[in-house]
Amino acid sequence: MAAPSFAARRPRGTNDIVGAEAFAHAHLLRLAQEIFSAYGYAPITTPIFEQTDLFVRGIGESTDVVSKEMFSVLSPDAHAKICTGTPLKKDQRLTLRPEGTASALRAAFENGMVMQGGSPVKLWYAGPMFRAERPQKGRYRQFHQIGAECLGAPSPLADAEMITMLMRYFEACGIERSSIRLLINSMGDDKCRPAYRESVRDYILDHRTDLCEECVRRADINPLRAFDCKNPHCQEVMSGAPIITDALSSDCAHHYEQVKHYLEMAGITYEEDPRLVRGLDYYTRTVFEVQVVDGLGAQNAIGGGGRYDKLAELMGAPDTCGLGFAVGVERMLIALEHQGVSVGESARLNYYVAGVDSKSNPQTQDAVYQTACTLRDQGLSVDFDLQGKSLKAQMKQAGKLNAQAVIIVGPEELERGEAVVRNMDTRDERTVTLDALRQGELR
Ligand code: AMP
Repeated sequence: MAAPSFAARRPRGTNDIVGAEAFAHAHLLRLAQEIFSAYGYAPITTPIFEQTDLFVRGIGESTDVVSKEMFSVLSPDAHAKICTGTPLKKDQRLTLRPEGTASALRAAFENGMVMQGGSPVKLWYAGPMFRAERPQKGRYRQFHQIGAECLGAPSPLADAEMITMLMRYFEACGIERSSIRLLINSMGDDKCRPAYRESVRDYILDHRTDLCEECVRRADINPLRAFDCKNPHCQEVMSGAPIITDALSSDCAHHYEQVKHYLEMAGITYEEDPRLVRGLDYYTRTVFEVQVVDGLGAQNAIGGGGRYDKLAELMGAPDTCGLGFAVGVERMLIALEHQGVSVGESARLNYYVAGVDSKSNPQTQDAVYQTACTLRDQGLSVDFDLQGKSLKAQMKQAGKLNAQAVIIVGPEELERGEAVVRNMDTRDERTVTLDALRQGELR
């Protein structure tokens, strides 16, 4: 049947998640719940929009996300103010969340979950994020992330535990280890990074004629971002820039060594990439990214994160260290598809209950409905016809729904208090009494 034409189209850079993809999406969420809870992470859900200032402070004004990619939300009041040229108050400026960390931190502090000197707070979340990027394969304006945050654990054990959990998650999702690489680096902290930033800034200015305008423009605001420039010529020039590993303080270098030691103990293989800086401003010490080797082009990062020991303070909360990661669900699904792995297909229906002439026979119709109710109450997955279909069409429907068996109810069987059960794989048929069925024989 042709779908009726409908004028409305989804906005650019957004996706409908339907059919097999919707099942796969739900499956990846179930696995996150399973794996992350085994590592002591509790679920958290925060609003989809927050006060704009949270992201400006938390993510950093100089980042692409904050300077170019935020979607603003206007309440009717705020809209009216804007129309009359009245300035908005801070709490009236709202933005659709571009990432989950700032919100998770705000929520953890606002809800009194973080106790100074208390146990680490481990949280995981999932949901849509919004960035006004130029849409292309693997890069959308609304996309979905699954992420985790751990607050109050300064030990390198926490970094290794989190990276291990992430890699176990990818494994559970069916992503082959050989198809991805785990990159790690240390970005130092507020003691050693400033001098390093300066040296990169000087390097950029010394090579200003060889670099793109954007890299030179960033020299003063955020020189490390030049390592992320996609321009191949800039990448070549930046390959000669000083590397952070040579500039780490002894504390940061020790932390980094320990992270690597604990990763090795957990059997996690990694590659060190001294030019991995990641797009957001707030990282300190450990940063990591998981990239697919093949199939996603430039959008090859399926997840990443790092330590952000100064973020809480930056956001006006008590000084608390933390670390986190986020994975991109759409990119994981593309990677899985590329590997030919199908995930989370719809489970088989246990029974389809079919009626002989149920359209014209109310007793059969009642018996079909009653049987479906009884079996569903027993916890089985069951479906039946809602449209007065012929028996032949009902059998066809049962096949489409991939039912394991069909229970056929007809007037003659009903008189004897029986029904016929047909196994859809072997085509074998057997008779059961309706009493036995009520007592759970088909469970
Ligand atoms: P980030 O929050 O930028 O560290 O991103 C974490 C992960 O989210 C990335 O590794 C991607 O898998 C995914 N991601 C980020 N931006 C987008 C986007 N615009 N569209 C789809 N996935 C994205």
